[in-house]
Amino acid sequence: MLNATYEPINVCTVRRAAVLLLKERAELIEDRTGTTLHSATEVMPRPEVIRLKRYAPVPRHTATRRITRRAIFARDGWACQYCDAKSDLTVDHVIPRAKGGGSTWDNVVACCAPCNRRKGDMLPHVAKMHPRNTPRAPHPDVFIHVAAPRTPSIWEPWLRVVARRGEALVESAASAGSGEAWATAA
Ligand SMILES: [Zn+2]
Repeated sequence: MLNATYEPINVCTVRRAAVLLLKERAELIEDRTGTTLHSATEVMPRPEVIRLKRYAPVPRHTATRRITRRAIFARDGWACQYCDAKSDLTVDHVIPRAKGGGSTWDNVVACCAPCNRRKGDMLPHVAKMHPRNTPRAPHPDVFIHVAAPRTPSIWEPWLRVVARRGEALVESAASAGSGEAWATAA
């Protein structure tokens, strides 16, 4: 879903997109070729990318966006921020919680389980372990990729960042979303 400014802001179900189009609150930007949705009374192309007609205020400051493991991993390129390992990822608090560190974007990093055990409750300078990238709030596009791990190619021109890595660690959050009265027909 694009904002009125064409900025990607959200991922929604096909059904939700169809409702927004029918209510004329959004316009169709991209559809899936040769695929239609049909209800009792309407036939429409299956929407892939829609644009809201009116600007929707979205949180500018990604610092306030909810912190999830997947969003942290996506921001950090699905790699341990201490040794670059790509597997067995956990979340590390740079300043340990036991030492007063908070669960904020600037204090959490992707960290493999062995590094996490090695660091334990030590402060970075004591453990001599410092994250490769200074943690900060992620780019807004990270949340799009987190919401839809298998980003359809038709979306790519609308996304500035393609951070799809470590697919094995990604749960499928992409909802087909053709519910109730709507059915997808080839
Ligand atoms: Zn590591």
